Amino acid sequence: MTIGVDDDESAFSRLEDGKGLEESWLRICARLKGEVGEVEYRTWLTKIALGPIDGDEITLLLPTRFLRDWVRSQYGDRLSELWNQEIPSIRRVELQVARAGDPAPIPLENVPSTAAATPAQEEATPAARTAPEVRSDLVTALDSRFTFDTFVVGKPNEFAYACARRVAEKPSSVGFNPLFLYGGVGLGKTHLMHAIGAELIQSGNVSVAYMSAEKFMYRFIAAIRSQSTIEFKEQLRSVDVLMIDDLQFLIGKDNTQEEFFHTFNALVDAGRQIVVSADKSPSDLSGLEDRLRTRLGCGMVADIHATTFELRISILESKAAASGVVVPGKVLEFLAHKITSNVRELEGALNRLIAHANLFGRPVTLEATQEVLHDILKAHDRRVTIEEIQKKVAEHWNIRLTDMSSARRARNVARPRQVAMYLAKQLTSRSLPEIGRKFGNRDHTTVMHAVNRVTELMGWMQLFAEDVELLRRMLESLKT
Ligand code: ADP
Ligand code: MG
Repeated sequence: MTIGVDDDESAFSRLEDGKGLEESWLRICARLKGEVGEVEYRTWLTKIALGPIDGDEITLLLPTRFLRDWVRSQYGDRLSELWNQEIPSIRRVELQVARAGDPAPIPLENVPSTAAATPAQEEATPAARTAPEVRSDLVTALDSRFTFDTFVVGKPNEFAYACARRVAEKPSSVGFNPLFLYGGVGLGKTHLMHAIGAELIQSGNVSVAYMSAEKFMYRFIAAIRSQSTIEFKEQLRSVDVLMIDDLQFLIGKDNTQEEFFHTFNALVDAGRQIVVSADKSPSDLSGLEDRLRTRLGCGMVADIHATTFELRISILESKAAASGVVVPGKVLEFLAHKITSNVRELEGALNRLIAHANLFGRPVTLEATQEVLHDILKAHDRRVTIEEIQKKVAEHWNIRLTDMSSARRARNVARPRQVAMYLAKQLTSRSLPEIGRKFGNRDHTTVMHAVNRVTELMGWMQLFAEDVELLRRMLESLKT
C-alpha cells in the first residue's frame, strides 16, 4: 500500500496499518446500508471491495464492469462524500474492476445495521433529512433547492405549476389521477416533482415515494434477484403519493412497464395519488403499452412549454437576486436573448458568471459576460436560419416553399406562414423588419400581428399548439 504525502497526522497514523481503513470502510458500508435500504444494498453494494489508497484517492473494486458503471453512476458522489467525511485527506474515489487475488468484499452479515456513532454522522444524510415521513428506501433524496418558492412561474409553466400545487396541498382530494407532467429537457419537471414532495413532507402525515423510472426499474430487478418482489410491491403500494420521473425510460422495458401498470392501478384503486413526468404527452409516448398510455392520459395532462423571453428574464432575476451578486439588467437581457434552449443551460450560464464575479471580485458587465461565456455563447449562435424554418413549416403543412413569400392570403397558406414568422421570432435573433423582408418584403407590423395571432391561437387550440411546439422542437434539434 502506498500512502501519499499527507499533512493530516492523525489520518496518517490511522491509515498506516490498514486497520483504520477497514474500520472506516465498515462504517461507510453501514451508513450506506442505512441510507439505501437493505435490498438495494444487498444487490449493488455488497459487491464492493476495498482497494489501495494512493494520496488523496482511494480505490474500490467491483467484480464486473456493469456493476462498476452502475455503482459509479448511482453512488459515486455519495461514496466520495462519505470517504471524505471519514478521512478528510481522501478527495477522490476510484472505482475499478477487480482482478484475481484482489481483496474480497465485507460479507453483509458483518456490516452493522446502524453505523457506530462517528463525528461525521452528525451531519444529516440526504435520507435522514427527508425521514421519517418518507420511506427512505423508496425515495431518491429530494433536492432541497427544488421548492415551489424557487420555481418561477410564467405563461409556459403556470398550468403545470397550478396542478402541482394542487397535488401538494390535498393529495387525497385532487380530483385527477394521475397528474402527468410533460415537456422538453431542462424545463422544470423534476423541479416541480421535488417541490410537491418537499411540501407534502413538510405538512406531515403523508408518505411519499419519488424515483426516476430508471431507478424504479433497477429496484424492481433488484427485488427479483433477491426474491423480494412481494416486499417491493407492498412497499410501493403502501404510499399515499407515488411520483415517477422520466417515464419515457420505460419504453421497450416491457416487464417493468407491466409492473408499473399494476402498481399504478393498485394505487389508483386505493385512492392514492400518482404523479408522472415524461418528455412527451401520453399519446406521443409510442412504445408504451396502449393500456398504460390510456390510463396515463386519464388524469390531468399538463404541458410545460418552452420558455418565453419574459420567463427567462424572471428566472434570471430571481436566481441573480438569490446569489447576492449584482447582475445588471442589460446582462440578464443579453442572456435571456442568447440562451433560449432551456432553463438548465440558462442557469448554468448565470452560475458561471456569478462564480467568476465572486472569484475575482469584479463587477459583472456585458463585456465580462461575453468573455466568460464565450464557449457557451458560440454554441448557441449556431442558430436555425429563417430559410430552414420556412422549409420545415412548408413541409409540415404541405404547402409550397414559395408561398412563404407569396401574396396569397388563403388561410391554408396564410396560417403556416404566420407560424413560420412566429418561429423565426422565437428561434432567431432577427428583428421584426428583418423577418418581414424574408417573407416577401412584408411590413414589420405584419410579422408582429402574426406573432400575436399564433400566440393567441396556441392558447385555445390544443392541436395547433402541439403542432407548433413539435415544429419548434424539431427546428431546435437542428442546431446541434
Ligand atoms: P427537467 O426535469 O424538466 O429536465 P429540471 O426540473 O431538472 O428539468 O430543471 C432544470 C433546472 O432548471 C433545475 O435546476 C431547475 O431548478 C431549473 N428550473 C427549471 N424551471 C424553472 C423555473 N420555472 N424556475 C426556476 N428554476 C427552474
Ligand atoms: Mg428531470
